[in-house]
Amino acid sequence: MGKRCELCGKIIPKERVEALPATKRCVDCSRQKGSDFFAKRTEIGMDIDTYKDLLGATRS
Ligand SMILES: [Zn+2]
Repeated sequence: MGKRCELCGKIIPKERVEALPATKRCVDCSRQKGSDFFAKRTEIGMDIDTYKDLLGATRS
């Protein structure tokens, strides 16, 4: 059972839910509409989704 995006209704990838357990938006909607994660933005100097994408990119 996947978690669904609050905006488009698509299943949010499991990796994303694991990385961002409280996220309500898929990657596409976060990019287009803005992330629902702003809490740590100032701490890391970028959008948390962008940060996680970068981490994922370096791992793969
Ligand atoms: Zn979406």
